[in-house]
Amino acid sequence: MENRIKKVVVVGGGTAGWMSAALLRKVLGAQMAIELVESDAIGIIGVGEATIPPIQNVNNVLGLDEAEFLRETRATIKLAIRFENWRVPGESYYHTFGAPGRSQAFCQFHHYWNRARQSGYQSNLWEYDLNYLCAEAGKFARMQVKDPIWEMPYAYHFDSGLYGAYLRKYSEQHGVIRTEGLIEQVGIHPESGHVETLTLKNGRRVNGDFFIDCSGMRGLLIQQHLGTGYEDWIHWLPCDRAMAVPSQRFEKTLPFTRSIAHTAGWQWRIPLQHRNGNGLVYSSNHYSDDEAASILLSNLDSEALGEPKIIPFRTGRARKQWNRNVVAVGLSSGFLEPLESTSIYLIQSAIVRLLHLFPHAGVTPELVAEYNRQSQTEYELIRDFIILHYHVNERDDSQFWRDLRNMDIPDRLSQRLQLFRANGGLFQDQLDIFKDSSWLQVMLGQGIVPRDYHPLADNLTDVQLRESLEKIKKIKREPLPQMPEHDQFLEMYCRVKAG
Ligand SMILES: Cc1cc2nc3c(=O)[nH]c(=O)nc-3n(C[C@H](O)[C@H](O)[C@H](O)COP(=O)(O)OP(=O)(O)OC[C@H]3O[C@@H](n4cnc5c(N)ncnc54)[C@H](O)[C@@H]3O)c2cc1C
Repeated sequence: MENRIKKVVVVGGGTAGWMSAALLRKVLGAQMAIELVESDAIGIIGVGEATIPPIQNVNNVLGLDEAEFLRETRATIKLAIRFENWRVPGESYYHTFGAPGRSQAFCQFHHYWNRARQSGYQSNLWEYDLNYLCAEAGKFARMQVKDPIWEMPYAYHFDSGLYGAYLRKYSEQHGVIRTEGLIEQVGIHPESGHVETLTLKNGRRVNGDFFIDCSGMRGLLIQQHLGTGYEDWIHWLPCDRAMAVPSQRFEKTLPFTRSIAHTAGWQWRIPLQHRNGNGLVYSSNHYSDDEAASILLSNLDSEALGEPKIIPFRTGRARKQWNRNVVAVGLSSGFLEPLESTSIYLIQSAIVRLLHLFPHAGVTPELVAEYNRQSQTEYELIRDFIILHYHVNERDDSQFWRDLRNMDIPDRLSQRLQLFRANGGLFQDQLDIFKDSSWLQVMLGQGIVPRDYHPLADNLTDVQLRESLEKIKKIKREPLPQMPEHDQFLEMYCRVKAG
């Protein structure tokens, strides 16, 4: 077949480049050659350490051994994110990967909880969530359960440099060719506008039929050579800079990420086996870099290991994430701040989407249009979820938070908020990685309490309802006493499997 893709070239060897190369190789097999070009002189962004549970699908597809993966990337377990000071200073809530209570076909658990609350029975919704209970207790075990009530989804915190190196080793072992070199010229076909050749500083030429642009924020192919254009979302998400610094390992490794709001941004704390990752995401209209450094360094749990690194960014997305014969994956495709650890997930999802829509007899407009439609929706849904954290706040200590509270928000988010405020209603968009339980936790955590609940919650009497809630709370706690501390788990699991 004349237009059949025989060779894919991946531009860039950061998390996006190596994850793309590994997944494409694994799924497409030896059908086509895969070459990855990266430049040590440019290097990688070197942040991106917190993930969400779908990362386990990547590991499963690649056939990675979990204990080895934890060892190689110095990873820890992530059960949740704790949001501190977001609604008001001094208060915190969790967004866990779990779900409260027991799920019902037509009436979600929180409607029963809300009805009980309205009849005077006060309880914390998170007390019905095993992820929360373990996060608070600093415990973890892999739950192999038949009853979904004890399901405990989890993700990882890992060292991004080690993760890239691990995927590189995997990819090279499976036949991906790595070429070191700085790309200086890009050859484009005069009629089709397709990228054909990369010319490296040392004069070497790399040809390909299809290109994955993983060149990071510079968007070497998608922006610099194809001029795709960028949609800016700074009017909804005004933070435009980050400052990152590692610090010494903290005595006890928490099984969750901390996200601590400040007067014009927020700070992350990510526990790894050998150190902590820290950073401040902030608005340069409100903090100078010196102020940001002072806030970051005076709010560390342990001693800093080096100087803070400044990373400017532009929130938004490439107008087309697939243009001609180039698909942008990773930071070249857009940027959403790491509040909900979604960038690495977006890499995974982009590659899975590409694999579903992979061209057989050449790139067609239909494939490109469908890919771009899905990518746009997925990005916008995550964007809305992030805006939610900022917009629904009751902080009165800075103009930053007041402006965010008073701004106009995207229509879809506005509808979600109205529905939830009215009767606790939630709706799931197929392309939304965040399920009902995520929206529920963040909306409640940011201070929205629904006025009403679903009528099915009236099927129980007050007494039956309270008894049922107490029972669920008790059942949820049952696995806790047998569980090891998170650090004990890491030690036992990694060592035993290494045996
Ligand atoms: C502050 C911050 C915190 C983050 N935290 C998280 C998080 O907690 N969780 C999460 O999921 N994501 C997070 N991210 C996002 C995450 O870091 C990225 O999604 C991930 O690292 C992928 O980056 P990349 O591979 O697209 O780009 P990069 O790491 O920048 O890699 C770009 C590659 O392209 C190569 N390259 C570029 N130009 C050329 C050229 N001319 N010739 C040859 N090679 C070239 C470079 O050498 C490099 O190998 C964060 C991002 C930021 C900015």
